[in-house]
Amino acid sequence: MTSSDRAGEDARSPRGRGARGPGPRVLVVGAGISGLALTKALLDRGLAVDVVERRAEDEQAALGAGFYLPANAVRALRGIGLGDATARLAEPVVRQRLHDHHGRPLAEFGVDRIWGGVGPCWAISRGDLHQVLRAAVGATLVRHSTAVTEADDEGTVTFSDGSTGEYDLVVGADGVNSTVRRTLFGGPQPRFLGQVCWRFVAEDATASADLTDWTGRLGPKGRSFLTIRLGDDRVYCYADVNSSVPAPPAGDWRTLFADFGGAVPRLLAQGADAHFAALHESVNTVWTRPGAALVGDAAHAFSPSMAQGGAMALEDALVLADTLANASDVAAALAAFQARRARRVAWVVAQNHRRDRARNLPTPLRNFTLRRAGERIFKANHAPLRATP
Ligand SMILES: Cc1cc2nc3c(=O)[nH]c(=O)nc-3n(C[C@H](O)[C@H](O)[C@H](O)COP(=O)(O)OP(=O)(O)OC[C@H]3O[C@@H](n4cnc5c(N)ncnc54)[C@H](O)[C@@H]3O)c2cc1C
Repeated sequence: MTSSDRAGEDARSPRGRGARGPGPRVLVVGAGISGLALTKALLDRGLAVDVVERRAEDEQAALGAGFYLPANAVRALRGIGLGDATARLAEPVVRQRLHDHHGRPLAEFGVDRIWGGVGPCWAISRGDLHQVLRAAVGATLVRHSTAVTEADDEGTVTFSDGSTGEYDLVVGADGVNSTVRRTLFGGPQPRFLGQVCWRFVAEDATASADLTDWTGRLGPKGRSFLTIRLGDDRVYCYADVNSSVPAPPAGDWRTLFADFGGAVPRLLAQGADAHFAALHESVNTVWTRPGAALVGDAAHAFSPSMAQGGAMALEDALVLADTLANASDVAAALAAFQARRARRVAWVVAQNHRRDRARNLPTPLRNFTLRRAGERIFKANHAPLRATP
């Protein structure tokens, strides 16, 4: 480590994990999905990596509720060698159903109609997914409770404990409010999408027909309530609503969904402590510059409408590791990375915008469209993502 203050280099330092090879000195900032997946993929290619994460280890493990992994996310997990480990903890999602808020069917199809030939779709708790990724990079690699506070054009990075490090490549995997993006790339702040949401995991042992694998319920006035079976009688619940401000409304949020039928009232009874989030989109389109790259939400956060955030983060990790392992130098690798990812991510952003507009169509028109063409629309939304990234 060419650190000006070696306080950070101790038994927990990733430098202890393997001899520094001839490859570039890489720092991954953030140990979320994209950071851990990238780290695993880089280690597998023989590159040494430092990883810092601002959260404490136990705080991070406790995050979140559930996670839907569409087939391109599963393919990327398999690509980084984590397919079997994830499968052991995941629940297959075989069908997708769209209902109105009374529980009347609008559309239903097997996920193989969308993803046939790409792979299965899975649901998993966020904690379990994190655990798989965490175990894959090793218990001691990530320097927890350490944030990057600044990075400069010369590859010098300052950490929250006062130490600094020098790197050939700094990768911002630090989420929608990325410090790496702010300090090295500038550009616009994330844009509030006019939606807020709540997530929680409920227990439900009933075999009710509207609670099998993936069911989205669409209400009037931009409200939806999604459930995904996680296995072991757990149901991941996700509810969202339009909002003019990025803050929770006054009072109990659950009253916003009081007119939803079927299983929703009994699930809501368990949602008092749901995680709240205001949804933002990161609108920068430049994810590389000399000595730095952005991956995952740091590069391209968007609405969870297509559940493609995790998939794009995993694909970014795989592609960046590939280009770094195969290109003649870091600059060539970064150029190849941006070129391989730009169109695909732009497609997802555009589809999310289309879906967000569709949720605000007059309810009878939206329901009629989904009854007539729901499967066709879902298939078209995802078509280019069937190709390997
Ligand atoms: C409500 C909601 C539901 C979603 N559901 C799904 C879904 O079902 N399926 C799906 O595929 N996607 C889903 N997504 C999207 C998905 O969660 C994200 O796209 C994904 O987590 C991005 O991973 P990431 O690693 O890029 O960012 P993050 O998961 O945000 O990780 C960033 C990490 O960087 C750390 N960090 C931040 N700043 C610093 C710093 N300065 N120094 C060091 N560390 C730092 C953070 O603590 C964090 O651990 C959802 C998103 C939301 C908001």
